[in-house]
Amino acid sequence: MKARTMMRSVMAALLLGTTATACASTTATTPSSTTAPPPATIRPPDPASVAANELGSVPILMYHRVENDPASEYDQTPAKFTAELDRLYREGYRPTTLAHYITGTMDLAAGTHPVVLTFDDSTTTQLALTATGDPAPGCAVALLEDFATQHPGFTATATFYVNNDPFADDPRALPWLARHGYEIGAHTATHANLSTLDAAGVQREFVQNLRAIKTAVPDAPVRSMALPLGVYPRDHALATGGSWDGTPYTFDSVLLVGANPASSPYTAVDPAAIPRIRSGRSPVQFDSTYWLDYLAAHPDERYTSDGDPTRISFPRALAPTLAPAKVPAAQPY
Ligand SMILES: [Zn+2]
Repeated sequence: MKARTMMRSVMAALLLGTTATACASTTATTPSSTTAPPPATIRPPDPASVAANELGSVPILMYHRVENDPASEYDQTPAKFTAELDRLYREGYRPTTLAHYITGTMDLAAGTHPVVLTFDDSTTTQLALTATGDPAPGCAVALLEDFATQHPGFTATATFYVNNDPFADDPRALPWLARHGYEIGAHTATHANLSTLDAAGVQREFVQNLRAIKTAVPDAPVRSMALPLGVYPRDHALATGGSWDGTPYTFDSVLLVGANPASSPYTAVDPAAIPRIRSGRSPVQFDSTYWLDYLAAHPDERYTSDGDPTRISFPRALAPTLAPAKVPAAQPY
C-alpha cells in the first residue's frame, strides 16, 4: 500500500512539473519572479477516436477462495488469479466498484473498459492481515495491491460481499478495506439459502448482516447485496428492502451468480438482477475466460470509456438502447 501511495504522489508531482524530492525545497524558496502558466485544460479525446461505447456491457467477475489447493470449482490458485489480472490489464480493463457501476459514476481513462471484481464469503484467502496490519502475502488483496503497484492505471479496488464474523472475525479487516478504497456489500449474516426461510428469517439475515458491517465500519455505505448461492427469497421484494427488529434496510442493487456480462448502467438495466461471471480453477461454461474471449472478438459490444465522466458517448446507432433519463448527458457520434 505504501508503494502505491508513493507512486501516486510521484505521479502527481510529475503532473505538476516538479518532483517528489523537490517539493520541500520549493516551499522553502518560492521564486517570486517566475509564475508558472496555468495548467492546460485536459480535454477528453474525440469519442470516435477511442471507439467510445458507454452503452456496451461490463463484465462483473465473481471470485471466491484464492488458495494454492482450490477445493471447489468456484476457487482458484493465486497464479490463476494474477494471470487473470494480467489479461484484464493487457486488454484495457480497469477495475471499478459495483457502486460506481450501478450509479454510472465510473471515472475511467478514455479507451479503457470497466471491470468489477467481486469477492464472496469474506474468507482469509481473500484478506488476511499481518501482525503489522498489512495484507498477508498471497491473499487476493495482497496480489491485487501488488499488481496495481506494478501496472500504472490499474486501480486496486473491488467489492467484497461479506457474511458476519468476516475474514476469520479479524476486527481490522473491514476497516482496512474501507480505508483503502474497497467497497463492502452484504451477503447475509450466515450465508443463508434465502429460499428456505420465511419472510422474517430473510429480513433477519439482512439486518443482522448490515448491523455487523455498520458496527465495524460505520461510515461505509452498504448499497448492494449478493444473493448467497444465487438464490432469491421466495418474496423477491425482500431482496431489495424490508425490516426486522425495528431496523429497515434497502439495497439498490442485487447480484446474481451467473452467467453473462452486465448491461451498461445507462441502459434499461435491472438493478435487482445484475449478472456476474464466474472465475474458478478450471474452465466451466460461460466463465470469465469464455466472456473475455467473446468481448475481445466483439469489441463493439463492450463498454469503452470516453474519458469524460460528464458525458455518455456511443455510436449513434445504439441510441435506442439509452435509458430515457440519461438523454441529457448523451453524446452520440
Ligand atoms: Zn457466497
